[in-house]
Amino acid sequence: MHMTPSRLNIAQLCPATKTLGPGERFAIWVQGCPFNCKGCISPDWIPFKIATPMPIDLLAKQIIAEQNIEGITISGGEPMMQAGKLSGLIRRISAERPELNVIVFTGFTHRQLVWDEARELLACIDLLVDGQYVQHLNDQTGLRGSANQQFHFLTDRLLPFREQILNRRSDIEIHLLNDGALMAGIPPSGFNW
Ligand code: SF4
Repeated sequence: MHMTPSRLNIAQLCPATKTLGPGERFAIWVQGCPFNCKGCISPDWIPFKIATPMPIDLLAKQIIAEQNIEGITISGGEPMMQAGKLSGLIRRISAERPELNVIVFTGFTHRQLVWDEARELLACIDLLVDGQYVQHLNDQTGLRGSANQQFHFLTDRLLPFREQILNRRSDIEIHLLNDGALMAGIPPSGFNW
């Protein structure tokens, strides 16, 4: 698989969802994940194949133009496999919309994120939800897939929402698209989509 340095490999976008953090958020799911968690809700986004290559600048402009959003949530797939490009995207957005907060889900643990590009991405985000998905620990509580996953508040910007992030019941939205439908959010264990 070869991607040009200026393009992200995107699995799916959702310009406005309320299921993946406080407020209305632009959600980005990237293609490709090195893990293979049992019960993964997005198995189509695990293979490292070219899905939708998207110029970083173009995606930044699309997100900047979404006036009603309060933040960005990035999941996958595995965001840390495109960490350098994602930090470029966030820096570009933050230059024009510094008020937007950023949440990233990763299957790595925070302690594993030691390489330069991963550290670069960590420096751009407000909340990291880390660890692989463990199906039998999906208790539908908090902004995470399973109870083993940890919340790392890397800045204080999302601390006012801490209670909601830690304890809210998970939910999903179904978005109708031109070519099908998209589920956004965290479904219960065993949910068939
Ligand atoms: S880390 Fe996430 S995307 Fe990757 S296999 Fe696990 S649940 Fe699926």
